[in-house]
Amino acid sequence: MCGIAGFIGKEMAVPYLIDCLERLEYRGYDSSGIALCKKGSIEVTKRKGKLAELKKAINVKEKKNSCCGIGHTRWATHGSPTEKNAHPHMSEKGLFAIVHNGIIENYAELKNELISEGVTFSSQTDSEVIAQLFEKNYKDDFLISARKTLSRLEGAYAIAVICRDFPDRIFCARKGSPLVLCFGEKGGFISSDVTSLAGQSNEIYRLDDGECALVSSEGAEFFFSDMVPKEKLPEKLNISAEDAQKQGYEHFMLKEIFEQNQTAARTVHGHIRGDDIFFEGLDSLFDIASDIRRIAFIGCGSAYHVCLSAKYVTERLTGIYCSAEIASEWRYSDSPVDKSTLCVFISQSGETADTLAALVKAKASGALTLGIVNVPSSSLSVKSDFVIQTAAGAEIAVATTKAYTAQLITVYLIALRLAKEKDCVDKEDYVRYTEFIRRIPDGISEILACVPGQAQKIAEEICNVSQIYFIGRNTDYPAALEGALKLKEVSYIPCEAYPSGELKHGTISLIEKGTYVVALMGSSDVLAKTAGNVKEVKSRGARVIFVGNADRIRTDNYGNEDKILSLPDSENVFSALYESIALQLLAYYVAKMRGCDIDKPRNLAKSVTVE
Ligand code: GLU
Repeated sequence: MCGIAGFIGKEMAVPYLIDCLERLEYRGYDSSGIALCKKGSIEVTKRKGKLAELKKAINVKEKKNSCCGIGHTRWATHGSPTEKNAHPHMSEKGLFAIVHNGIIENYAELKNELISEGVTFSSQTDSEVIAQLFEKNYKDDFLISARKTLSRLEGAYAIAVICRDFPDRIFCARKGSPLVLCFGEKGGFISSDVTSLAGQSNEIYRLDDGECALVSSEGAEFFFSDMVPKEKLPEKLNISAEDAQKQGYEHFMLKEIFEQNQTAARTVHGHIRGDDIFFEGLDSLFDIASDIRRIAFIGCGSAYHVCLSAKYVTERLTGIYCSAEIASEWRYSDSPVDKSTLCVFISQSGETADTLAALVKAKASGALTLGIVNVPSSSLSVKSDFVIQTAAGAEIAVATTKAYTAQLITVYLIALRLAKEKDCVDKEDYVRYTEFIRRIPDGISEILACVPGQAQKIAEEICNVSQIYFIGRNTDYPAALEGALKLKEVSYIPCEAYPSGELKHGTISLIEKGTYVVALMGSSDVLAKTAGNVKEVKSRGARVIFVGNADRIRTDNYGNEDKILSLPDSENVFSALYESIALQLLAYYVAKMRGCDIDKPRNLAKSVTVE
């Protein structure tokens, strides 16, 4: 959500700022801008809409003669997405320019105070108070002004700030929203994520919450928020420049769908040795498995769907009472948790604001916390008692695919290990389940070889419909939710998902001749039940797309030949995995036929760092 870029070096800043903002585009934005610092002046250029507009404006003005600058892609929270509200924001007298990711919660109070002191504001944003405070608190020391300003800010932020008097420095600070730095031959780089720094250096510095840095072309000085200096060591950057490229695929989403046999293999081989399932650093958690009375799986969006799958699978395998919770709801609920509760937080970025807030609540209640994240050293991984790093690699498309399946396989493995620790799974079943998980990469390869053709054919038929319903029961249900979400995210077709048995409690009134229903029938446990619901919608004129084992669906006469996304056999309890991948392909091809902006769907952001 929103992107911050910064460059200070020995070369012109503009190409690096634009390159970084382009790499951050996937996070979602509605306007963009840059500010360049030269001795004696700061120049700001900003535009509403796509980066192409900003690039045109920069070319016309030929603002190329500065080696120090900051850039931003804005995802508006306070004030409409206009040019005026776009970042960077300048202080009134032009001494400072800032870019901000997050929300300043006490901005109204600060703004009123500054206005009463005679400051004139030029935008409706919460962020502008930061620039005005920097100027108000400035005599001749950048850091003193920073300390005084930060002490007044409440809420979440990552900021980068330039000062007219210090054209060779960029100040940055983080509280709640991510910010990373690196130093290469060409100078110092600042960005909201590590992916955009790939290729610049092999080492990066991730700012921790409450940390600040004064960056020059040679390196950075690090500080606590009261500007007391602190030591900080770099970490290895494990993303190659290729990860950030499409490598011949038309879209990142397609590339990432097709990487899933490899990411699944990394996940599986990373945690299964012989018949044993292991997670580094989690032994002490599994040692107390028998004390765990309840598990709450907590996440947002697709990660919430992983939570729901985890609930079904963990309850079935371990008998522990589980719940799946939407983080933005749970954080304000009175749901009881205590020392015997394990709270599992799932987030691709590890920076999802609502999930982080839910983690704080869980810790305050004394629960044990486990984070499952894809981005190393992210806030969730730092703040959880235990952490599992998924092996999906950098995911660029906004709609998650490979990170989602890596999370899913991870929760399957956790459930199975817990079941073994609690001694509540037969040896025979344990070996069968482990063997199935070990073969998942092959199953995915099979799907990637067969399903794209089927999905394209169905996509042609449904790409112009006005609504689609998804039904599934038990472990198929979370995959129905994820399939509907994926399709609406990228194709903008309204989709709804229901537990199959729930349809007749209301929504069946919307089924009429020609309505499309996607029926998930991957789990043979409940296949006959969902088949009954299929009959109900068919007799009201619905057209049904089946997802499951094609032979079984045809033999049992549930469906016709041409509207099946055909899957390899799955263990029933793990049915959501293969179903989800088939539905990712369907979503992709429908969106492509509708000419949608697949990798960057409108209004969406990759990493939702605001509440
Ligand atoms: N709250 C700020 C604004 O609306 C920053 C939004 C962002 O993170 O892009 O301008």
